[in-house]
Amino acid sequence: MEIKNKIIVITGAASGIGRAMAHRFAKENAGTILIADLDASGLNEVSRDTGAIAIPTDVSKEDEVFKLIETAEKECGRIDLLCNNAGIGIGGGPETPSEDWQKIWQINVMAHVFAARAAIPGMLHRRSGYILNTASAAGLLTQIGSAPYAVTKHAAVSFAEWLAITYGDQGLKVSVLCPQAVRTAMTADDPDGVASVDGMIEPEDVCDAVMLALKKESFLVLPHPKVLTYMQRKTEDYDRWLKGMRKLQSSYGNPNWP
Ligand code: NAD
Repeated sequence: MEIKNKIIVITGAASGIGRAMAHRFAKENAGTILIADLDASGLNEVSRDTGAIAIPTDVSKEDEVFKLIETAEKECGRIDLLCNNAGIGIGGGPETPSEDWQKIWQINVMAHVFAARAAIPGMLHRRSGYILNTASAAGLLTQIGSAPYAVTKHAAVSFAEWLAITYGDQGLKVSVLCPQAVRTAMTADDPDGVASVDGMIEPEDVCDAVMLALKKESFLVLPHPKVLTYMQRKTEDYDRWLKGMRKLQSSYGNPNWP
């Protein structure tokens, strides 16, 4: 897919990776960009800088996601590229309160389901549309210190896989973005923590990987190529991989993330 003249929706676009995508797509001469986020003032800033249309949205609420998709389709006639990127991190394990598990589930997983439910009928009707879901390397490997993040990001990868298999022969393209650490608000509190064991890249570096993947229409977007090696090691010998992860964990004491 080429970005020029495309109608693009990006969630979580007030900050970090989503904001960088809005800037990059504007630079690549996208047609219309619609940006959504909880943070209305951050959105307005990105809108001012990129010309994108700001639509304050809570992606954890189905009616708000539906309204976002409906507005894009009504105003622009179609959505060419839907970037479900909003996400949060919560540290902890099973002791994490159920309300927090539910909150991260709604944002990191159900928001992708709501957006697919709203946008896919139009995309299938047109036999054209691209969904780029932001998951994480934590969705392929794990997140030391955060069960809710590891679990929800695995679910996000799984949902993207399912969409690609189910609708891939009907004109729908799907990619899943799985970075390791990126310098954004999410990693600001612990830039040297366990999440950034392989170092930290900039949101603009993530955009380079996204642009390349969109051009090639490849499913898996890995701004940190090492993640592929880690995936291979995991599937080659699960027990060995678990042992290595325990070793990594103990080298950080008893990490909580984020
Ligand atoms: P960020 O905190 O800078 O941006 C996330 C944005 O999502 C914020 O603007 C926030 O307001 C918005 N958001 C949160 N909840 C929302 C909701 N309910 N409705 C609408 N918007 C909401 O963080 P980021 O690093 O840019 O994160 C973007 C995505 O990248 C997330 O899905 C995150 O899990 C993923 N990711 C980040 C990293 C990293 O190291 N930063 C690594 C892998 C994956």
